[in-house]
Amino acid sequence: MNKRSALTKASRIVIKLGTGILTNTDKRPHLPRMTHLIRQICELRERGKEIILVSSGAVGAGRGVLGFDKKPKSLADLQACAAIGQLRLMSTYENLFSIYNQNIAQILLTHDDLEDHDRYLNARSSLLSLLKHRIIPIINENDVVSVEELKFGDNDRLSALVAALLPADLLILLTTVDGLMENFGTPEQKIIHTVEQIDSQISQLANGTHSDTAVGGMKTKILAAEIAVHSGIPMLIANGTHKEILCDLLAGKEIGTLFRPDKNYLPARKRRIAFFHHPRGSIIVDPGACKALRSGGASLLFPGILSIQGNFEEGDVVSVCDADEREFARGIIKISSQDLHSHTIPEDDVIHCNDLVIL
Ligand code: GLU
Repeated sequence: MNKRSALTKASRIVIKLGTGILTNTDKRPHLPRMTHLIRQICELRERGKEIILVSSGAVGAGRGVLGFDKKPKSLADLQACAAIGQLRLMSTYENLFSIYNQNIAQILLTHDDLEDHDRYLNARSSLLSLLKHRIIPIINENDVVSVEELKFGDNDRLSALVAALLPADLLILLTTVDGLMENFGTPEQKIIHTVEQIDSQISQLANGTHSDTAVGGMKTKILAAEIAVHSGIPMLIANGTHKEILCDLLAGKEIGTLFRPDKNYLPARKRRIAFFHHPRGSIIVDPGACKALRSGGASLLFPGILSIQGNFEEGDVVSVCDADEREFARGIIKISSQDLHSHTIPEDDVIHCNDLVIL
């Protein structure tokens, strides 16, 4: 079986629809495109697949109503657009899905909801319950209450976190380009069909987009791919403006860019430590500690610490950085920053190896 035909077997699929796909030039929901996508999603549902949508487009769909030609700069205006646009989008979804007698549900999340363990578990069990009842959950960030510290930042990341939380068998990001490109914007432009490993060369191909609607462009898609592949989930980036895109992808056709999952992917607990937290501070370690931690299986001990940054409590997730302050790991700290500052030297490890993830 080739790499793509394995995708035909995916039974739980998270599909992220970008603003450029969902809204038209008048900044309103793009009806013809949504109609095609929803027809295909309902076809996949008929074939027994569980589908979870992550839908952008709230700010985009609200802009037209408030008459913003350009994306507003102030947070309050963006939030007003999101409040208006979210309702418009959901009522468009409701109308289009009802043609196929398919019920849908709306879930609005903030980063805080997935950082807190109980809320993370609640979000997961609500999603699983909706899927059990054959409902299609439609998720967006709760933009109206999201302030910078509470934000996922972008829906590419949110969709990867949702895929990792469930977990899903496949994550598809639909955008307005064909996939990850080599030599983008030049006559030699060429799509990369498969990414085996996300290395620095791949990351460099992903320059942020300057589109007026898009939030993160390729850069945030590569970051989402890192979460997906380290969670053992294949991820596709493909062009959502193509009429049969979802059916073609699920038929195993070689279109778009496939990021292959890591064989040694992280277990659920380590996924939470690595991807679901905003680190509360940083621990800068010396080269010896850095080497020991990177080689795997070691815990962080007090003597390896050069300095600390930020205020954190025992049990918080912190970044672990090398002497150049580059983050290379995350872990759950066993002592507060205050105690570390006051040289309360812990008897055993500061971060146990079971609570540490090398990034
Ligand atoms: N939550 C935003 C919206 O619905 C979109 C964020 C994103 O596209 O990454 O407009």
